[in-house]
Order: sequence, then C-alpha cells, then structure tokens
Amino acid sequence: MPSPLQVLEEHFGYTTFRGKQAEVIDSVLSGNDTVVLMPTGGGKSICYQVPAMVLNGLTLVISPLIALMKDQVDALRLNGIEAAFLNSSLSGVEQNQVYQQLENGSLKLLYVSPERLFAGNDFLEFLSRCNVQLIAVDEAHCISQWGHDFRPEYLQLSKARKWLKDATMVALTATADELTRKDILDKLGLSEPNVFVSSFNRANIEYHVQPKQQSFDRLLDFLATKSNDSGIIYTLSRKQTEQLSEKLNAHGFKALPYHAGLAREVRDQHQEAFLKDDVNIVVATIAFGMGIDKSNVRYVVHMNMPKNIEGYYQETGRAGRDGLDSTALLFYTAGDLFQLKQFAMIDDNEAQSRVMLRKLDEMAAYCELTTCRRKYLLNYFGEEAPNECGSCDVCLNGPGEMMDATEEAKMALSAVIRLKEGRGIRYTVLLLTGSDSKDLRDEDTWLPTYGVGKHHSAREWNRMIREFIKLEVLKVSDGLYPVLQLTGMSRAILREGIPVMIPVKPSKPATKKTRKTASNSAADSQLQHPELFERLRTLRKLLATNESVPAFVVFSDAALRDMCEKLPRSRDEFLQVSGVGRNKLERYGTEFLKVIDQYVVTA
Ligand code: ADP
Ligand code: ZN
Repeated sequence: MPSPLQVLEEHFGYTTFRGKQAEVIDSVLSGNDTVVLMPTGGGKSICYQVPAMVLNGLTLVISPLIALMKDQVDALRLNGIEAAFLNSSLSGVEQNQVYQQLENGSLKLLYVSPERLFAGNDFLEFLSRCNVQLIAVDEAHCISQWGHDFRPEYLQLSKARKWLKDATMVALTATADELTRKDILDKLGLSEPNVFVSSFNRANIEYHVQPKQQSFDRLLDFLATKSNDSGIIYTLSRKQTEQLSEKLNAHGFKALPYHAGLAREVRDQHQEAFLKDDVNIVVATIAFGMGIDKSNVRYVVHMNMPKNIEGYYQETGRAGRDGLDSTALLFYTAGDLFQLKQFAMIDDNEAQSRVMLRKLDEMAAYCELTTCRRKYLLNYFGEEAPNECGSCDVCLNGPGEMMDATEEAKMALSAVIRLKEGRGIRYTVLLLTGSDSKDLRDEDTWLPTYGVGKHHSAREWNRMIREFIKLEVLKVSDGLYPVLQLTGMSRAILREGIPVMIPVKPSKPATKKTRKTASNSAADSQLQHPELFERLRTLRKLLATNESVPAFVVFSDAALRDMCEKLPRSRDEFLQVSGVGRNKLERYGTEFLKVIDQYVVTA
C-alpha cells in the first residue's frame, strides 16, 4: 500500500499537504467518519482522492454538480487514476461500460449524483457488492434546508450508509455557518465524526469595494489591468448580463453572457468557451458558478450588491483556486440595498424575510466598512483575524473613501418635502444653510429645516445633493425649471433609516492607486519570464483542445508559473514542478520541455 504522501507526489505532483489535508486523510484512513469545512480552493478534493488511492477498494463520490463530474474525472485520469462518473448525461452504452469497470474492480473512484444514487434500491444493492471503502459527500451543505443549495436527495444519504456498511464517510463543504454545520452532523448519519475546520481566509484574494457611480468606466479601468486573465462578472438580471457583455465586446474584450434563461446548448457552449480559455470573461447571474471549477479565474466582479455574505464569499471564492493572486471587486450603492430589501419583503414567509433582511444589512455593512474587509468577513464566519490584512482596499488605501451622509440625506429630504417638491438645488441649499439671501422667501425662513445644515458650506451641500441624485435618494425633474423631487428610496431612508454612503471627495477614476494593480495579471513583472508563460499557455491550450478538456485540467496556472520559475531542462527537473506527477510527465513532459528549451536557448 502506498503512503498518502507517495500518492500525492506520484499522482498529483505536489510535495506537501496543505492546511489540514494531512490530518483529514489520517482520520479518514483510520476509518473515522470525518467532516471537512474548508474554503473554496482549500484543496478538499485531495482529502478523498488520496485516500481513494491508498485504500483497497472503491471510493464513491457523491456530488450534485453533474456539469463538473466530467472535468474532475478527466483530471484524475490525466493523473493516472482510474475514475468514472455516472449521471443523467451518459448514454446507455457509456453507463454499461462503467458498470463493467465496477464489476471487474478496476475503478478507484466513482462520481455519482444523488439522483442517480437513489433512483431505486437496485443501484445501491449493486454497489454493496463493489467493495466501497469510502463515501465522500461533496458539497455537504446541500443537506441543509438553511443553505441556499438545499437538495432533498441529500437527506437520503444516511440510507446509503445502511447499504454500504464497511464504508467510512467523509463530508466536505465550503459553507461553514453554524446552522449548516449542525445539519450536516445531524442529518448525514455520521457516527462520532472528527470535524476539521480550516481557516476560511483566502489570503490570495484582494477585496475591493467601489462606489457604483460610473461603474462601467471603472470596470474598464479595472479590466485594463487584467490583460488576458480570466474573470467572472456577476450582475443581477439576465438582461444586464447580455447588455454588459455586449458593451464589453464593443470595447474589445472577449465576453459571453450566462444565465438560466439561455437555451441549454447556448449556456453549455458559453461555459465551455470560458473553461477552455476561448473567451476570458463571463458576464453572469449567480446561476453561473456552481458548475465551475476553473482554477485560473483571476478576478470576480459584482456589479451589484449580493444578497448575503455567504453568497458573496462563495462567489468571490471562485477566484484564485490555484493559489495565485486574485481580485474581488464589488460596486456598491445604497440604492441596491433598497431594491433588494423590497424583493426580500415580498416574500410571504415572515420569519424568512426577517433573516433575509438582516443578511442584506450585514452585506451593506460590509460595503460601507471603514475597517479591514477581510477581518469583517472572517469574523462573520466566526474566525478571529488581525485588524489589518494589508490586502483589501481599506488596508491598502486607508479608510474614508466613503462617508456616512445619512443625516445630511434626511435633512435634504425634509427640505424637499417642506418645499413641496417645488424648488431646485440652489434654493434648497439656501434653505439648508440658513442663507440670508433675498432670493429666499420670507415664509421659508420660518421652516424648521431653515439652517439645519449650516455646519456645511453651500458648496459641500451642492456636492452632497448631486451625490444623492446619483444614488437616487433624490431626483431632478425634467423641464425648464428642474426641481428636486422624492424617489421611492427617499421614503425608505426617512422611515427605515437605510444608511446613505457617499464618497468623501468627488469620485475619481478607479484602481490607479492600488498597491499592485498589475501584479495580479499573469503577464506581470513578478512573474519570471512572462513571455515563456504565454508560450506555455499557448501550448497548454493546444493540448487541451486536442484532448477536449479544459486548459486547467492539463496544467494549472500555478504549474505553468512554477515552470517559469524553475526552468526545468530534464525529465527529472520537470517532475519537480508543482502539479507534475508521473502521468503528466509521460504525457506532456516532452512537449513542454521542448518549449522551455527553445526559450532558454534563444532568450
Ligand atoms: P476545493 O475543492 O476545496 O475548492 P480543490 O480541491 O479544487 O479545492 O483544490 C484547489 C487547487 O489547489 C487545485 O488546483 C489543487 O490541485 C490545488 N491543491 C490542492 N492540494 C494541494 C497541495 N497539497 N499542494 C499544492 N496544490 C494543491
Ligand atoms: Zn484588510
């Protein structure tokens, strides 16, 4: 029997376990039921794939992500591991092939969807004769009704246990809130499990929030620093995804939309194109991502405020799975909060809408932070964190990009109400500052709002009111004599105390002053030999296309980077590259070595 470390080196090309992987694998191999809470990109797969190779029998992997199974299985095969999957996408002939492999015991891992597993007892009965040693329940949070991905079939998993008595169970998830964790322990039918909780910190992701004004220009500025890198841009509506992706294409980017309203084939096509690096940007609703395991996503942008921290963290977590520097950028306006609150309240389930409203406030609070964003996120998931991370916008640029102007907004609103929505900006400012200008009508100087804002200059009030208009706290009527009027949000601000945040100074173009704007890009200066990286990337794409697999299945960006650093010149040296195991050496070594050789000789 090989040791776990041998398997890791031989098949995955890695030299050390990461985080809690070694402990988890120990627990699993000792036959203890095990629960693993690890963030996206933390390396959960290794936690059951390595034991699968050590154990003498079959490992059953249960996953709701049908779209992912093929890539995962392809990746395992390229690492020299016998794996297969069974789900509704396979033809009858293909299924029979898998059955045969199961019968002759040649498989180490079988991926199966819960629907498939519980479609009658026949299949479980069959599996009970296949020497299943380990059951890995991926995305284990799907068992929780409290989560956003509840799958009723997951509730039957304890039944699988009864059929497969010898098997140890390992449950894995990247969702770590208390309720979900409790559900996993309660409902999965685990016996005295060992629970491993990793830090949820994604140290390689930089968090940024920017005001939503001129967000498209800001987005262009941001993308300009990303060259060929892959990224996901989330928007709220289907229409927005299409409009934004069109606009991006018009500006010379390669983008495709993705949302649940597109025909199945179109959706699959767009996803494929992204996975295979044919386009580098997908503009999507949150329907996109569950099925995405692309390791070299360099940035995730939210054009709107997400509904809760859990979702936001999961979505941003799709960046940087390969451990390389990545960016999460969110555009925020209090207007989004207001709009989302309205949706949340339509729900006729009172308890649930209360939870949703609270989560919206927590999300807005994140956007309005003047302290470290990473700390807030980690504390949210119940983790301690230092006060400064050094890699969020607040830590990098200092606080105070935004200011709380809720009181000022209320003053301006009550002035507009007192003036019966009949006056323009200039007049309203005269009233707020308590001006003695003759333009102000006598009776208006008796209004309670007269002079309430005199601690700000007229000029500052002008600026703030313009910001309020941009945020749709107020609006200006059309016509020859435009007057200030209320909006749907005005009432919410007065009655429900929704905070109004505006930039401290007039908004300036984005991203210019960040610490290392370009260093996230694969073609940056920190990268050794960027030109070689591009050549290797081209070769990877070529090979991947030939084999009909996504590029990152051939080699991750991290592996290509390591090649640029180590500049291997022999097979032995190539084997030292992180992510190169025996199988990949045999399969790809010659070609990659040739490109590296050429580069070194001519450079
Ligand atoms: P998760 O499922 O937790 O999101 P993955 O299992 O997809 O994470 O792993 C994320 C990335 O980290 C993958 O590219 C994987 O190959 C890499 N990885 C996992 N474990 C290690 C390790 N011990 N050393 C180096 N890279 C690793
Ligand atoms: Zn920070």
